[in-house]
Amino acid sequence: MTYKIPFNKPVTVGSEMDYIQQAIHSGHISGDGLFTKKSHQLLEDILGVPQVLLTTSCTHALEMSALLLDFQAGDEVIVPSFTFVSSINAFVLRGAKPVFADIRPDTLNIDESKLESLITKRTKAIVIVHYGGVACEMDTIMEIANRHGIAVVEDNAHALFGKYKGKYLGTFGKFATQSFHETKNIQCGEGGALIINDPELMERAEIIREKGTNRSRFFRGQIDKYTWVDVGSSYLPSDMLAAFLYAQLEERETIQATRKHIYDTYVENLSDWAEEHHVQTPFVPDHVDHAYHNYFLLLPSLEVRTRLIAYLKNKGILAVFHYLPLHLSDMGQEFGGKAGDCPVTEDIADKLLRLPFYNSMTDDDIQAVVQALHDFTDWV
Ligand SMILES: *Cc1c(COP(=O)(O)O)cnc(C)c1O
Repeated sequence: MTYKIPFNKPVTVGSEMDYIQQAIHSGHISGDGLFTKKSHQLLEDILGVPQVLLTTSCTHALEMSALLLDFQAGDEVIVPSFTFVSSINAFVLRGAKPVFADIRPDTLNIDESKLESLITKRTKAIVIVHYGGVACEMDTIMEIANRHGIAVVEDNAHALFGKYKGKYLGTFGKFATQSFHETKNIQCGEGGALIINDPELMERAEIIREKGTNRSRFFRGQIDKYTWVDVGSSYLPSDMLAAFLYAQLEERETIQATRKHIYDTYVENLSDWAEEHHVQTPFVPDHVDHAYHNYFLLLPSLEVRTRLIAYLKNKGILAVFHYLPLHLSDMGQEFGGKAGDCPVTEDIADKLLRLPFYNSMTDDDIQAVVQALHDFTDWV
């Protein structure tokens, strides 16, 4: 069914078509062409990080992180139960054992106060997710991780250009991973990036991304032939996708301003309504700059959520929920996950509803969603 107001709508915002044509005419549409290099440079300059490498997806950037950390069978990785499967699957692929952490009831980010109790001698990494674009408590998380000598990987799929205490998200962990999937703020259909904050891992990251060869050094003229030097895979996107992405990156300020406007309009029009109906809305700590990935409601019960989704659907509005608690998924249970392990995750997963949120959303679209919510009466 088509919706009058879909949940997401991928749109072009600038020079996408022009740049794709330029990529094609340049005669270089495989990986690491002109637009890939421009995207690397732009992100490195803005974020102030040593290296950014575009990848075919955030999932693949996470897989690269697991390879770069030399994950071995039996190594443990701590991950919030409330996240997308790729945050953990990338490590499980290397034989890692997931250790599921619960989340804070306010930001829905990993609960840093429970982190230390999950660390064992086998813990090799902590994966964190800045949910919805709101930063995790980085001071506490980095202090704990550094004291135990454990790597932090920021799954930054929601939070590009968000900040914690004035510092860009994605610049705290050893690695951070971005998604440019069509549902993200900045996108190219399918795509991602690995941010490498530890300069010692830059060369190996290039090798792993280029099939385990030192081809990148060869292309730079640093060596006169290239060969197989390490494990690896093919993680670089076509330059046609990078061309689309670069056009979006150029318009990042417009995109983020549009998303701030959508978010602020929801806040303005729904705060009193939410309080009246015992609905929880997103919480943003004072020391956080939001990246405006989503706006969500935490409804009083699963039954209300189910009725509200059906009601909105009837009005041509698509609102969706996510994530099912990973520790209760089929795979999660194989790793020993059971009901009661992550009570906050289990509670909110039944109540969360994400409202439509996309870069071409008009004021009329937003008001139609707001009005529909105000007209909903089926609360008990
Ligand atoms: C979207 C998303 C991913 C996966 O991104 P892909 O680019 O589709 O691989 C991973 N983690 C989180 C938190 C996401 O939201």
